[in-house]
Amino acid sequence: MTKIGLEIHCQLTKLESKLFCSCKADYREFEPNTNICPVCMGIPGSLPLLNKSAVEKATLIAMALDCNTPAKIAFFRKNYFYPDLPKNFQITQLNVYGNTSIGWEGKISVGDKKIRIRRIQLEEDPGRLIYEGATEKTKLTLVDYNRAGTPLVEIVTEPDFETPHQVREFLYILSDLLENLNVSDPGLEGAMRADANVSIEGGSKVEIKNIGSFHDLEKAVHFEITRQQSLAERKIEIVQETRHWDDGRKITVSARTKEEEAEYRYHLEADIPWVRINDHTRNQLQTHMPESISSKKERYVSKYGITPQVADILSSGRYFSELFENAKNETNAKDIANMITTDIMGLLDTREKRETSKLNAEHLSDLVESIKSNKITRASAKSALNEIIKNGNPLQQIITDLDLGHVSDEGELSDIISQVLNEEIKAVEEAKQNPEIVNFLVGKVMQKTRGKADPELTLSLLKKHLGID
Ligand SMILES: [Zn+2]
Repeated sequence: MTKIGLEIHCQLTKLESKLFCSCKADYREFEPNTNICPVCMGIPGSLPLLNKSAVEKATLIAMALDCNTPAKIAFFRKNYFYPDLPKNFQITQLNVYGNTSIGWEGKISVGDKKIRIRRIQLEEDPGRLIYEGATEKTKLTLVDYNRAGTPLVEIVTEPDFETPHQVREFLYILSDLLENLNVSDPGLEGAMRADANVSIEGGSKVEIKNIGSFHDLEKAVHFEITRQQSLAERKIEIVQETRHWDDGRKITVSARTKEEEAEYRYHLEADIPWVRINDHTRNQLQTHMPESISSKKERYVSKYGITPQVADILSSGRYFSELFENAKNETNAKDIANMITTDIMGLLDTREKRETSKLNAEHLSDLVESIKSNKITRASAKSALNEIIKNGNPLQQIITDLDLGHVSDEGELSDIISQVLNEEIKAVEEAKQNPEIVNFLVGKVMQKTRGKADPELTLSLLKKHLGID
């Protein structure tokens, strides 16, 4: 089984200032190296002052992802030398003295798949290296520190993804959520970056670093799975390694250096005191919170009697839950929910398809109503659905255009049944011994009427013709 885990870095772009100083969090408009100060440059003697809003916004993300949140948080120094890191250490979080990062053990549903969140931490973004040409061949590298110290939230998942498609859907759900929480604008260049761990059945874990956008993340994962499968087919060992995503060529390339967790010499950041997050703060944050996925799910179950499995699938993404909310009323909620999860999700399984779809809430409630009142069969509803998604015409017009109306006229149905009985002589004989075979004959009638025959009437007429009850 393919296993994919993600580490997502999300800038809190809606904040005014950086994580530990008063330089602007929105660094994108500045000339290089003009949005800096002694704190974010790590000048000896300067002291960091923690941005309270950053802690609140990060906690909001943790709460929205159903994470546990700690009574107090701590910061750590992660020591390493790299030109984009002027202090030679990054201030980040680590769960070694108990759980002191912003959140841990959360979850998010992607369709019917549950993705566990291992932890969420708050940290500072390094500066930005600008290479001339390809990274391996560049002769000149420039450094811009405007970004250094920008608040960053790291979201680490368990290796619960099995396909690039699940990765993509997760990213859409996550970016919807971050936008809804008003903490980040995922569309901004560099606001979302990610690392991914990918391993195929029987292979070693390969880490891909430096994936610059959500769009490339899916591509990188797809490329890496294909690369590993091709090695496995040729019986070549897949080595455990770190690879870089080459943005220009859209491939992963082996990184020459190996980084180990222990080499960072983490230790408590003594310049920042532990910060208490009390219930009052949490309650305050809760009032700003759009309805969480889990409470939405509970509402669907308790108010509309939808099964927990269906509610889970329905509440995970914004598109489908909005469609549900707009189409449902007191009496049809369960049917609407079932139609979305059994038929519509399969037809609109990518964002591109959802964006071009002409289906709206009115179509959906009309469809459910027409099935209920025996105007069309479920099979015809499926054909209508395909058409609605393409052209958005009103249901009634589609029923007329495609001639999808129910065949519930006894005379008309009897004629069709006689035809079927004449054609299926062997099945007719068998049906007299084995009533199960009658269903096969119902299927044949459905085929002839292109799914329009009233199933119950068909069954009773068939039995009458065959002389069984
Ligand atoms: Zn600064």
